Amino acid sequence: YVAKGEGTGIELYDAARDPNSPARLGTVSALREGIEQGQLELHYQPKVSLRDGTVVGVEALVRWQHPERGIVPPDEFIPLAERTGLVHQITAHVLREGLGQARLWWDLGLQVPIAVNVSMRDLHETDLAGLVVAELDRHGLPPDAIVLEVTESVLVLDAGRAVATLRELRELGVSASLDDFGTGYSSLLLLEQLPVDEVKIDRSFVRRLDEEGGDPAMVRSIVDFAHGLGLSVVAEGLETSHAWRLLREFGCDVAQGYRISRPMPSDQATQWLVERVVRGPAERAGLRAVG
Ligand code: C2E
Ligand code: MG
Ligand code: MG
Ligand code: MG
Repeated sequence: YVAKGEGTGIELYDAARDPNSPARLGTVSALREGIEQGQLELHYQPKVSLRDGTVVGVEALVRWQHPERGIVPPDEFIPLAERTGLVHQITAHVLREGLGQARLWWDLGLQVPIAVNVSMRDLHETDLAGLVVAELDRHGLPPDAIVLEVTESVLVLDAGRAVATLRELRELGVSASLDDFGTGYSSLLLLEQLPVDEVKIDRSFVRRLDEEGGDPAMVRSIVDFAHGLGLSVVAEGLETSHAWRLLREFGCDVAQGYRISRPMPSDQATQWLVERVVRGPAERAGLRAVG
């Protein structure tokens, strides 16, 4: 990193930003190898209606099963993957594996859409629409079996290509969601441009609902604002009955969080879904106490 235009001649070296730093090269090649050797694994977290407790979807969340380090959470490798472009391989893997899981669930009568996280880079640099359609076809699933959650993790100056990709997907019947709403570089600007159907309020806002004397005005405003644009609203990081009640009161549509379920490995997720979806949603969602 060179402090440009300041005429000081001082160079600040930041290893995290140097694509050739030895530490990073180690992780990048390990990650590339990990992807190739099938070390990426998906966990699944339900999205539940705040009105009646029905399961409206399941989000696929990637984990890296590292041979020495054990489970590495996505926050520790997705940012690197995004900087280096490796994220495209991760997206391809998650789409295939996630839709494979969805196929198994559909065969069991568990017809819940699967939400897959994609990076803005995927929308800009790859034929994401083509990839999604190919994976849906491979698994014999309709377009509403998948929802794409887009995170604004890189500063986007020109959303043009991403907008075109999302439009193409929408025409095919695939809907999209703007993730981590409120934390990006320009959430409002992006929301105005991106053809999405849903916003997910970042959990940093939702968490504040539980704080002593915390002001819920921000969450309430985001819900009203998104509804004004005709969008559905998901609250992420729901951890308490108190937050559940407030979100219901604000008219928030859907919630996701440890209060409902942590992300689960596939067999556990299947069991959870069988209980909640097949055997009757509202009664079994375990939400009566908080509803
Ligand atoms: P996200 O898409 O916003 O996912 C929600 C994160 O919040 C997940 O963390 C989830 O485990 C966590 N979470 C859910 N409920 C609660 C709660 O009640 N309390 C708390 N404290 N946390 C909760 P996770 O799985 O570590 O994923 C972190 C981020 O990594 C994701 O944020 C997403 O941006 C990214 N990510 C995960 N999987 C993928 C993927 O397959 N592709 C890409 N590009 N990014 C991914
Ligand atoms: Mg997400
Ligand atoms: Mg999020
Ligand atoms: Mg996130």
